[in-house]
Amino acid sequence: MATGDSADYGFWKLNRPAFLRRVLERRSPWDLAIVGGGATGIGAAVDAAARGYEVVVLEQSDFGKGTSSRSTKLVHGGVRYLQQGNLSLVIEALKERGLLFQNAPHLVHDLPFVVPNYQWWEAPFYGLGLKVYDLLAGKFGFGRSVLLSREEVLDRIPTLERDGLRGGVLYHDGQFDDSRLLVNLAQTAADHRACLLNYSPVTKLLKDAEGLISGLEFRDEETGLEHRLSARCVINATGAFSDGLRRQDEPDAEPMIAPSQGVHIVLDGSYLPRRTAIMVPHTRDGRVMFAIPWQGHTLVGTTDTPITSPSLEPRPMAGEIDFLLETAAGYLTRRPSRADILSVFTGIRPLVKAGSVANTSSLSREHTITISKSGLLSVVGGKWTTYRKMAEDCIEQAIVLARLEERPCVTRELHIHGWHRDATEPGSLAGYGSDAQFIKSLEAERHDLAEPLHAALPVTGAQVVWAVRAEMARTLDDVLARRTRALFLNVRAAQAMAPAAARLMAQELGKDEAWEQQQLSAFEKIADGFSVAY
Ligand SMILES: Cc1cc2nc3c(=O)[nH]c(=O)nc-3n(C[C@H](O)[C@H](O)[C@H](O)COP(=O)(O)OP(=O)(O)OC[C@H]3O[C@@H](n4cnc5c(N)ncnc54)[C@H](O)[C@@H]3O)c2cc1C
Repeated sequence: MATGDSADYGFWKLNRPAFLRRVLERRSPWDLAIVGGGATGIGAAVDAAARGYEVVVLEQSDFGKGTSSRSTKLVHGGVRYLQQGNLSLVIEALKERGLLFQNAPHLVHDLPFVVPNYQWWEAPFYGLGLKVYDLLAGKFGFGRSVLLSREEVLDRIPTLERDGLRGGVLYHDGQFDDSRLLVNLAQTAADHRACLLNYSPVTKLLKDAEGLISGLEFRDEETGLEHRLSARCVINATGAFSDGLRRQDEPDAEPMIAPSQGVHIVLDGSYLPRRTAIMVPHTRDGRVMFAIPWQGHTLVGTTDTPITSPSLEPRPMAGEIDFLLETAAGYLTRRPSRADILSVFTGIRPLVKAGSVANTSSLSREHTITISKSGLLSVVGGKWTTYRKMAEDCIEQAIVLARLEERPCVTRELHIHGWHRDATEPGSLAGYGSDAQFIKSLEAERHDLAEPLHAALPVTGAQVVWAVRAEMARTLDDVLARRTRALFLNVRAAQAMAPAAARLMAQELGKDEAWEQQQLSAFEKIADGFSVAY
């Protein structure tokens, strides 16, 4: 194995120095160079590496720093698309939901949802619609939908507004932890010899004498040095940032992305005490909205606000928070206020503009793959749930474009890193799947690492150490926002645990106190965007 790292844990750790060495020592072109380390790029890396191709991924910040850590955390067919009559899309997503449940059972769980009914027509209308949802899922179904009486609804959601409540419709969908799945996908790609670099923005596309893309230039953010690599095919998987790279290739390329931001607020778990989510099919602005129990907290979202350009740390607008609070207040007996918000996070949808490009080879209604004249393959749109299908379609195109030897896709049945037979095992480390044993060993070796870093969240020092040793966490933000979900769950608790986490990271990475201080002040700025003034 060429990572240059020992397989102490029975698998190949994500190891940035070893990956960088591999990139710098390589003399022959990579089969594929993928730009972007979100669900789309890492998914494509898993697909290609598992087929045996030589793959490198370059992410400008951390894996999942973009939209892929900021979703509603649902693995779903999309009841909204059902309302729109987009059956083919729903069928595709429901199938992918089933595959993901099978391949990452430690991270994807069945979650019951209730559509509360306050009008007489809602029970037959949504009851029938959700029966269609069950039927479309076929053998990939999670559980049948049923009509519930008023009492049955209140038994599941005792906090629901009782005034005018008639009953509800119960249905099932999938829930997951987006950035943890992304880390596990990166590990799966690495287990198949992919080379992945975070903190490596691609700054230039390289072209040969005929004007065809032959490689790229990237900056190692940790040293500031620029490096080059050559590749038979370069894949643009930069999500909401896709037009930026497309314009590096063709300065007059028509924009494809219409970015729109979605905000979630996080409340404590008492708003939904019994592990059943609320689905509001029609908000004031005609959207679907969810209130979901997640990691002992309550997630309420989302909004849909068009924005002009994407950024890595999008911030919520005051009106978006008010809208979420108002809508939640309409359905909950205890009305949440700004003071009850523990954290707020904002993500940018990489929506593809309708009719934006003439040479689109649309492989699904959801995602779009384009190939520029110089051979830049861009894969945009889609959603987390369908990342595997997007990756399969993308790599099929790349094989033809780069004239690679044809090899079949194997991801339908590929276990994702962490997979294990007893995935229903409870506990705060359950989401680590088969890796939980290594974290438990760390806690047994050093009892100080077994203690939670803050009383409000079950994050321990061992998780911080593990994130650095095996999951390529390089900054405090990586650990507190994406390897653990502290920042997303409770911004104040995350801020309070930051000094202890920074100290542990510095010890692991061999950094000094100045580094710790620099990490703490950078994290404070990021945490500010997850805080709500009241
Ligand atoms: C509010 C919201 C809720 C959602 N909820 C759900 C849900 O519940 N279920 C679901 O299935 N889907 C959901 N989605 C959709 C899903 O999250 C996205 O479709 C998916 O995460 C997009 O992944 P991506 O890899 O394309 O983009 P990203 O995750 O944004 O990744 C792109 C990456 O490219 C990197 N990059 C950009 N430029 C460069 C460069 N020059 N060099 C190197 N790297 C670069 C960025 O840093 C970024 O990390 C939701 C989306 C939003 C916004």
